[in-house]
Formats: sequence, C-alpha cells, structure tokens
Amino acid sequence: MSTESTSAPNFIRNQIREDADAGRVDKLVTRFPPEPNGFLHIGHAKSICLNFGLAEQFDGDCHLRFDDTNPAKEEQAYIDGIKADVEWLGFHWAGKVRFASDYFDQLYSWAQHLVHEDKAYVDDLSPDEIREYRGTLTEPGRPSPYRDRSVEENLDLLERMRKGEFAEGEKVLRAKIDMASPNINLRDPILYRIRHASHHQTGDKWKIYPSYDFTHGQSDAIEGVTHSICTLEFEDHRPLYEWFLANLPVPTTPRQIEFARLNLNYTVTSKRKLKLLVDQDIVDGWDDPRMPTISGMRRRGYTPGSIRKFCEMIGVTRADGGMVDIAMLYHAIRSELEDTALRAMCVLKPLKVVLTNVAEDHDEVIEVPGHPARDDMGMRKLPLTREIWIDSDDFMEEPPKKFFRLAPGQEVRLRNAYVIRCDEVIKNADGGIDELRCSVDFDTLGKNPEGRKVKGVIHWVSAAHAVPVEVRLYDNLFQVEAPDKDRDVDFLDHLSGDSLTIVQGFGEPSLAEVAPETRFQFERVGYFCADRHATAEGKRVFNRTVGLKDTWAKIQKKG
Ligand code: ATP
Ligand code: MG
Repeated sequence: MSTESTSAPNFIRNQIREDADAGRVDKLVTRFPPEPNGFLHIGHAKSICLNFGLAEQFDGDCHLRFDDTNPAKEEQAYIDGIKADVEWLGFHWAGKVRFASDYFDQLYSWAQHLVHEDKAYVDDLSPDEIREYRGTLTEPGRPSPYRDRSVEENLDLLERMRKGEFAEGEKVLRAKIDMASPNINLRDPILYRIRHASHHQTGDKWKIYPSYDFTHGQSDAIEGVTHSICTLEFEDHRPLYEWFLANLPVPTTPRQIEFARLNLNYTVTSKRKLKLLVDQDIVDGWDDPRMPTISGMRRRGYTPGSIRKFCEMIGVTRADGGMVDIAMLYHAIRSELEDTALRAMCVLKPLKVVLTNVAEDHDEVIEVPGHPARDDMGMRKLPLTREIWIDSDDFMEEPPKKFFRLAPGQEVRLRNAYVIRCDEVIKNADGGIDELRCSVDFDTLGKNPEGRKVKGVIHWVSAAHAVPVEVRLYDNLFQVEAPDKDRDVDFLDHLSGDSLTIVQGFGEPSLAEVAPETRFQFERVGYFCADRHATAEGKRVFNRTVGLKDTWAKIQKKG
C-alpha cells in the first residue's frame, strides 16, 4: 500500500482537540445539513468528511439533518439520494434522520415569543420595497412604516399568516434588530415568508415557512449540536445566529465555525448549475460519470476511500478563493487502484495480427496473476491463438526514432507472453491496414530473447476468445479551469466538446462476466470500472475512471 503522508492542516480538528483536552467539550456533536434540492457533490463530500470524520475521531455524534425550509425546490428523490451517498461514503449518522421541518412547531412558537418581547413584527412591504429599505454596505437602512405595530396586532397577523389568510408576498415576519447595523444581516432579517406550497414532510400543514437563518441555529440548539461547522459565506450570518440563541429560550448554545469551501478546477460545484446540466440533457443524469456528484463519481469508479483520502489531503482552512487541482483527486483514486484493481488487457482500437508460425489449432493458455503484487487476487487465463488483436496505436508503418512498439521488421513483447516480429503489412484497396503478419519467438516466455534487447511491450487479446466491450472514455466536462468565474460568460459556453468518447473494443476473457462496479487496470491504458447500470442489465460497459499517468505526483516531486 502507498505510505505517503496525506494529512493537510485542519484547523477545526486542532481547535476541537484543544477544546477536548481542556475539558471544554463533554461530547462532540456535529451535523451535516444538506438542502434536499439536488444531489451531493464533491464540495459536500468535504463537509461530510469533516463533520462525520470529527465525530468518529472524537467519539462524538454527527447528525444528518435536512435543511428543508424551501418546499418549492425540494424532493423526496433528493432525500433518498443524499442518504445513499452519505452511507456509501461509509459514514453513519447518529439516531434517526432529522429534518428542520421536525422543528416547525417549536420555531413557530419561538417566533411568537419574539413578537411577545417586541423583537419581531409583521411587515407589509413588498419584497422589492424591503430590499430598497434595507440600504447598502455604505448606507444605513430605513425602518419599515410597519415596524411599530403593537404586539397584539403582530400576534394576530402572524397567526392569520399561518392560517393562510394572506397571499404569498403580502406579508413577512421580521426580527426587530437594527436597521442601521453595519452588518446587513442584522437589518431586521426575515423570519417567515408566506408560501402556499405543499411540503414533502409536513404536507399542507404550513402556509408559512421559516428562513434559513431563523431555522439553522435553533435546530442546532434543539439537537444539542456543539460545533456548527459551515462554509465561509455564513461568517456574516454568525452575529444573527448568535442573536437568536441569545434572545430565545433555547436549550443549548452551539457555536458556529466557518471554513473555506472546496473549489475544484475544471469543475462546477453548485447544485443549481449541476441541475441545469441534467435538465438540459447535457449529461446523462445526476450520476453521469462526468458529474462531480458523489453518485457520478461512484459510477465513474471512485471508491469511498479515495474520496475520503482526497478530503484529508486538501485539509481545512479559512483561506478563501483557493482552487484545488483536479489532478489531486485523480491521484487519490489512482494510488488506491494501483494497489487494489484487478489487471486485465483490453484493446480499444483493434488491429488484427496474424501470428504466422502459430498453428490454427494452437490452444496455449498462459496463466498470469490478477494483480502482480497480490497473491490473494487469483490468476487469470490468457489464451494465445493464431489471430490476436492489438491496439492500432501500437503500430506505426514509418515510426520515428524512439518508437519502441511494433513497426515493420521491428520486435515487441506481447505483454505476459512472447516477443513477436512484424514481417508484413497487409493493406486493403484504399491503402488502409487490414492486418499485420508477425512471427513469434517461442524462446522468450518469461525471458529475454538471445542476443538482442526488446524494449517495447504492448497489450493484446486472442481474437478467438476476445469479448466485445463498450468502453466509455470520460474527460473533464469543462475546458477551462474556472468555468463559472466570469459573470458575463455563461458557464455552459465552457463545456468541452469531447468529455465523452465511446469506443467498441475487445477484452480478455476475464472481462466476460464481471459484477457491477468491478474495478480494473486495463494494462497500459488506464483504470476502468464496470458501469453499475449497464452491467446490471447484462451489458459489458466499462467507464474510464482515470488514466495511468500521475501528473499530481509529478508536480509534488518537482515542488
Ligand atoms: P450548492 O451551492 O451546491 O447548492 P449549498 O451550500 O447550497 O451548495 P447545502 O445542501 O446547503 O448546499 O450544503 C450542505 C452543506 O455542505 C453546507 O454545510 C455547506 O456549507 C456544505 N458545502 C456545500 N458546498 C460546499 C463546498 N464546495 N465545499 C465545502 N462545503 C460545502
Ligand atoms: Mg445552501
């Protein structure tokens, strides 16, 4: 197994260790709070590994809580997908799956509490007016003309909002904090909006829904979360998070800690944008192997371990704006598959070779290990017959100097087998190559030929025993490093034209029947994974996870 050190700094882990050592935390409780409005992506994996990882490490609990305050965009299918993704990554949430909507009754009574204390009011301004009254970073806001309604009137209006007596947008409930605060989040933030929408958990019970800000901290407090870990865009919301905790009779006082989100080059990590790719049929669903979703990465061939390792490698800091090189992600999976993937030969661009000194009825079978360094991975059988397939890229009629593969008159080793020499090139009427005629040196199995060096090795499969396979070669979806950086250019304009190439190839017999998600190194070609959907339907389809060349390891060595 690889022994390289992969841990990068993680300031939250350090902080919690200090808290634990000083006896400041009894039992760590964290939470992962996805909104069920899409499938999880690699950015969420960072948050999952952080929250669940800390709970594992410090013997605490991590809750899975759906932040489900926006019924219009949420769906049961996303809830199911998110649960499956977290479990697939190998994490376990403590207790039942939780929903912010479990706390709607409590939140509503806390809203009434704030009204009672004259710390919240019903506002009739329209959404546009509210925005206008709110002011800007340089100008203070102005109080709404409805700000001084009596407690009785506010209580009555709030209750009627709840009952559905008003139209959407007609009224909102706002906290009464400070319209002149330098922090815009404290300028009387909205607590409840009217939404006549059916909710996937609460049905038609509610006609008003709480805002994220009014929900999150209180849900943390109800659940006894000790460390509420979120991304940096919530830093400016922290005073508000704390204001609610200070002004409501909450049972516990969680603490919010922010970290920098993951940005990965050549990738978009925004559910909204990923949903667009799905809705416009640019990809084959949320789990298309090109998608940076957890389900897409799974289908592509990533393992849970490789994603967890990647998240460990990138570390956790507060430094914003950095971009992680996708080569690091490729490195994480490649270094695992190097040690764990079965080896097989598969020819992607078949060119026929006739071995002229091999008899028609020759039926030699060469046995080779499933993995060169793993006795526990069994043996595979490679039949050698008169006709074989090689990859047409491994032959050149007029090779440049250092082309160590096959060329007229030149020798090459068939991987795991004999050295052959190309004696003749057979062409068709159009000048294309039909087949090569080669001869085998039978005195070269497992040993060098007498008196000469053969440098090149190529992969091959017996034509009589080859199994037809479909191979899907995936590449980055986007051709620029930061597809959504430019506000004036649609990120879709940066889509790459060749993120998917489908080829029909020939595999060795060990590929005839494989279970979904079996992972292989196709020797000399790359790492591949049996597509979980196609394989389940009995088709032989392999997705390229990643190529063999490790650019990340190279960068590391140079640095
Ligand atoms: P998106 O913009 O893709 O919809 P989100 O933050 O709105 O992401 P949520 O479902 O609200 O999605 O996120 C759940 C958790 O995952 C949050 O705590 C959020 O901070 C975290 N998260 C989301 N994206 C990233 C990222 N790129 N890096 C790290 N954490 C992330
Ligand atoms: Mg969100």
